[in-house]
Amino acid sequence: MAKKRTKKYVYYFGGKQSEGRSQMKLLLGGKGANLAEMAQLGLPVPPGFTITTEACDEYYKIGRKKLMAAIKPQVNAALKKLEKATGKTFGKGPKPLLMSVRSGAAVSMPGMMDTVLNLGLNPDTIKALIELTGNERFVMDSYRRFIQMFGDVVMGVAHHDFEHELDAVKKARKRKLDTDLTLDDLKEVIRRYKRVYKKSVGKAFPTDPKEQLYAGVDAVFGSWKNPRAIKYRQLNDIRGLLGTAVNCQTMVFGNSGDNSATGVAFTRDPSTGEHKYFYGEYLINAQGEDVVAGIRTPQQITLKGSREWAKAQKISEKVRKTEYPSLQELMPRVFKQLDNIRIRLEKHYREMQDVEFTIEDGTLYMLQTRTGKRTAKAAVKIATDMVKEKLITEKQAVLRVDPDALDQLLHPVFVKASEDKARCLTVGLPASPGAATGQAVFGADEAEAWKAKGHQVILCRTETSPEDIGGMAASAGILTSRGGMTSHAAVVARGMGTCCVAGAGDVQINYAARKMAVNGVTVKQGDWISLNGSTGALYLGKVDTVDPSLTGPFGTIMKLADKYRKLGVRTNADTPHDTAVAVKFGAEGIGLCRTEHMFFEGDRIVSFRRLILVAESVKKLKEQHGVETLEDLERTCRKCGKSCASAMTAIKQYKQALAELLPLQRKDFTGIFRALKGRPCTVRLLDPPLHEFLPHDSAGQKEMAKIMKVKPARIKQLVDSLHEFNPMLGHRGCRLGITYPEVTEMQTRAICEAAAKVKGSKPEIMVPLVGNVKELANQKALIVDTIAAVEKAKKKKINVLIGTMIEVPRAAMTADEIATEAEFFSFGTNDLTQMGCGFSRDDAGKFLGEYVERGIFEYDPFQVLDQKGVGRLVETSVELGKKARKDLKIGICGEHGGEPKSVEFCHRVGLNYVSCSPFRVPIARLAAAQAALRK
Ligand code: PEP
Ligand code: MG
Repeated sequence: MAKKRTKKYVYYFGGKQSEGRSQMKLLLGGKGANLAEMAQLGLPVPPGFTITTEACDEYYKIGRKKLMAAIKPQVNAALKKLEKATGKTFGKGPKPLLMSVRSGAAVSMPGMMDTVLNLGLNPDTIKALIELTGNERFVMDSYRRFIQMFGDVVMGVAHHDFEHELDAVKKARKRKLDTDLTLDDLKEVIRRYKRVYKKSVGKAFPTDPKEQLYAGVDAVFGSWKNPRAIKYRQLNDIRGLLGTAVNCQTMVFGNSGDNSATGVAFTRDPSTGEHKYFYGEYLINAQGEDVVAGIRTPQQITLKGSREWAKAQKISEKVRKTEYPSLQELMPRVFKQLDNIRIRLEKHYREMQDVEFTIEDGTLYMLQTRTGKRTAKAAVKIATDMVKEKLITEKQAVLRVDPDALDQLLHPVFVKASEDKARCLTVGLPASPGAATGQAVFGADEAEAWKAKGHQVILCRTETSPEDIGGMAASAGILTSRGGMTSHAAVVARGMGTCCVAGAGDVQINYAARKMAVNGVTVKQGDWISLNGSTGALYLGKVDTVDPSLTGPFGTIMKLADKYRKLGVRTNADTPHDTAVAVKFGAEGIGLCRTEHMFFEGDRIVSFRRLILVAESVKKLKEQHGVETLEDLERTCRKCGKSCASAMTAIKQYKQALAELLPLQRKDFTGIFRALKGRPCTVRLLDPPLHEFLPHDSAGQKEMAKIMKVKPARIKQLVDSLHEFNPMLGHRGCRLGITYPEVTEMQTRAICEAAAKVKGSKPEIMVPLVGNVKELANQKALIVDTIAAVEKAKKKKINVLIGTMIEVPRAAMTADEIATEAEFFSFGTNDLTQMGCGFSRDDAGKFLGEYVERGIFEYDPFQVLDQKGVGRLVETSVELGKKARKDLKIGICGEHGGEPKSVEFCHRVGLNYVSCSPFRVPIARLAAAQAALRK
């Protein structure tokens, strides 16, 4: 009988024997795949092995016990191979092998999952290591770090309990920094740590190295589903991964003395994309976590970078040179080697890399390389620069930039004059660019609570930790008093596109009193402050902002996007201002002008209320008198004399409202057509859910009564008569135009008269909420007659397309009939989702979050088009519509028109254009290009 082949869970890496490749990220995680690739390239990578993401998947499927048993034989075999390659032994002298255990998913999730360093330390290996290195202090330092990390990460001992003991020893022995601790101090710390461990875990700290290793691996797999990792994946829309891989790697020591160091670096500046020099930070005599934790101030790698940093920090050259020298000055040979590796990695990956390295006693080791996270500003700069440098093609450049991230580039920056005038309290590190003004809060939970109440907040912390992720996402800006450019706050803020100033050392935060002191100024919770994430400045009070520049690399990437996209991109805009903004962002026309939005402004609401309050009375009068038109009604009532006095009042009010609204609408359309400069404009006829416009409170009803010269009770009666149980499915859209035809006529007249005024305008009249072709035919007849009347009056031909929205499922399924009357379709996917899924647009928020969490819907269908269901309705109507009318123009104007995944769908099903809000226009342009290139 053939032997069942066991699954391969463990992949070795180290020199040419490496079994992985960079393409195997899904299986080995990003870190594991790239360690193998770097080792293959001959770069100095400490050898080790990667346990696959499939093992993590099974950890959750078959349970940890079974999985751990299944991987043990392969881990043991890999350990043997490692011992052979290094000439060291795990858990034994004379040359003990120590290991690190690190997480590493296919998509990087900085700081979200667990890492344990220095595994394998026990009384035997400690003794051997001391003999080997002659450096007892270093060994004890490593041991105390190990107890703390293992205790905290693997066994869940409170981090604070260890910190408390460390601080107590430092205080008692008057040591400022961790590096000031003597051998004797460290021994005392270790004694105390072991006590903390035993008290919390209930048994002594483990000495069996394999027990330590397996517990570490178990903890890393377990950390895949810790709350902060889950939240990070939700916030960053990371889906479809099997889990995390675990990388077990030979330890190298950056904390073995002053000829050792550890650091992180980017091959290009992750904030700006510049690559004038090698951008990175390092710490002498430290282990990796010290750099990211922001406990000590990191030093710069290059001399140039160091000088710029010192200038920004107002540190003299003398102090910089003695206290914070660059790696280039301190270890020129290692620096040169590292710089060459930087160049080699960029050429190899053709992408900006983020590397981690350690220098052990003057020897350089590479611990990680990965695609570096970057701001949107850096992303467009790097992509366009790399095209110029012939590292990538134009198409690759277009695919390199995340469309959603462009949002960061479209938002305001500070007005220079206002910023110049503002009182600068201090300057920290420019950790994530942009400008933010908000009210100071000092806790992540508070940030979330204040934001929920509608406040704009700036989160101020000594340093941030992964637990703060929710509060960071809720904040307009983030300020920290400790930590460098690679601190947690800096990395996470850049990823979120949130402005961040980090390491502002002058800021002293008093959490208990909810205030901070900055160079003699006290900022209390709720006080306004402003941050410039591009310079690091912290200002007191609000600072004015200005729109960003849309030229340079941004303009180049947009041009490339336009070169490759097939979909048109229009905007949803209702005012000349929004139209102008959208045109600046590259909109090729208006895909949806919601005319009811034009009535929210100023006194217009009064005219509009007057219109809807009397329209029903007028309609009833028409029925009573058996007439069709307003003119006939007026004539009939006039003849009746006194008995029709109240009818005449209603007619007068109705006519007055229409007469007031006509010039206002005409003016709006004129402004919009002018701003469009010959681009097409789809104007949707009135589609108000009536309840949004009626005066429901007694003050509003009193005011309307005064204006209409009737009793408040009469207004209340009218409002009550218009009450609907389900307004979203009620008397709105074309249903209004059918029952109150004068409104459709007035709007058509306003559109046509404006078009006659503005040369080159291209109006398209869109009838909303059609479900039956006869509804459209009814409205079309009115529109056609009105156009003819205006043409006659103006003695001018007015070219107007007439089409409809497809937002009722019945319309989608009878699109062939509808297309006989419509020259264009525009999918109103907000309503189509509401009616297609049966989710109320106003109420579904209450439960859709849970639906997404439970995986019932992959995404909120109001944000990302439900391609299977609602998308099917769209596809069906495209097919039916085009069969009936070959040249049917088709677009989308629901919120989905600016959402990249939905844009890709629109490209695939053959729409002509998408339409979205002005600030999403560049996002849609890029998403459309990516859809075309990914095809
Ligand atoms: C829609 O329903 O998708 C649409 C664009 O119209 P509104 O959101 O105004 O109902
Ligand atoms: Mg709609």
